[in-house]
Amino acid sequence: MSDHLTLGEKRPSVAVPVGGVVIGGDAPVVVQSMTNTDTADIAGTVEQVAALARAGSELVRITVNNEDAAKAVPHIRDGLDKMGVDVPLVGDFHYIGHKLLGGYPACAEALAKYRINPGNVGFREKRDTQFSEMIEAALKYDRPVRIGVNWGSLDQELVVRLMDENAKAESPKDAAAVTRDALVTSAIENAERARELGLGQDKIVLSCKVSDVQSLIGVYADLAARCDYALHLGLTEAGMGSKGIVASTAAMAVLLQNGIGDTIRVSLTPEPGGDRTREVIVAQEILQTMGLRAFAPLVISCPGCGRTTSTVFQELAEKIQTHARERMPIWRQNYIGVEEMNLAVMGCIVNGPGESKHADIGISLPGTGEEPAAPVFVDGKKTVTLRGPKIAEEFQKIVDDYVESHYQKRDGKPSSAAAQ
Ligand code: SF4
Repeated sequence: MSDHLTLGEKRPSVAVPVGGVVIGGDAPVVVQSMTNTDTADIAGTVEQVAALARAGSELVRITVNNEDAAKAVPHIRDGLDKMGVDVPLVGDFHYIGHKLLGGYPACAEALAKYRINPGNVGFREKRDTQFSEMIEAALKYDRPVRIGVNWGSLDQELVVRLMDENAKAESPKDAAAVTRDALVTSAIENAERARELGLGQDKIVLSCKVSDVQSLIGVYADLAARCDYALHLGLTEAGMGSKGIVASTAAMAVLLQNGIGDTIRVSLTPEPGGDRTREVIVAQEILQTMGLRAFAPLVISCPGCGRTTSTVFQELAEKIQTHARERMPIWRQNYIGVEEMNLAVMGCIVNGPGESKHADIGISLPGTGEEPAAPVFVDGKKTVTLRGPKIAEEFQKIVDDYVESHYQKRDGKPSSAAAQ
């Protein structure tokens, strides 16, 4: 990896088209997610896939774990198509993927990519046969695969082989290093096996997921150095809430900074009743805050302190961020570049006007003891001062008007500001 702190160039990789999305090559890093519904529950799965897609997931993976799930897949695809949701579906197969892909052609057809875990496609001779059958399905339906190794289900025969070789080496590595080698070797050897069976490199994505930050960084650095396959990045079993977000961000940011990673998934455990789309938002925010992609306007807001003794400021920051996210599907359809808009909501006069001037639109709320007035800055200039109970609504209107007047319309018409 590079030894400096500038954003590294993206590591060269072979592009893999998946439906209308491209993973790797010069394509931007793709955000993906996975459902947690029972795939056999067609309506529930359609609803969740649609929600993930609307949140911005560019690929959605669903588990195909039994015959009922395989039967449901084409109906899920139909349901999404009827709703106008064209997000490609990825099938996650374990243990009996060869049977399900072979026995349910409509399922194989409806999926845009198959995920194969080489650690659990069978053992010894069966392993080779079953892996081959899955690759043959990929060839038959002209679909790419992800060879997804996971250290919770690592091929134990390979681990034993590498441990034996290591024991005979002049300077043996420790067991953790051999396990990391096994992950990378499993991914690469299985990719080579798929190639021997006829699958092109433009049909193969690799991943080696582990649940520990330093191990993930080490494993992907090795994987990236040993091949130019497109790489799916993710910390598996990242955990719940802030722990899951921080661990995923810490691991992926280091790799992305060094140009490693063509698609990412943030594997958060949702809180009971929590919203599955959170993993999509977090993935987008990792990429956007690093300056790799832009998805929706982000709100810069100060943390607040003893100078903000009411909740007005927190409520406004939340309202504006939610408003921007909710409006984004329509804005994206109609305006070019709106996802790069910067908004600032600040708590008091100390940093409020300064930070607001740096944003496209900023508001500096009054701190405790300040005059109850909130100056608004647009493109660095103070334009209006808001007062009274409707500050949030009035500020939202200013944001909406700014979008309308500053971003070029997709239908080719200039923005109203440009037309003046
Ligand atoms: S801008 Fe004002 S309210 Fe916000 S953290 Fe700074 S001093 Fe505190």
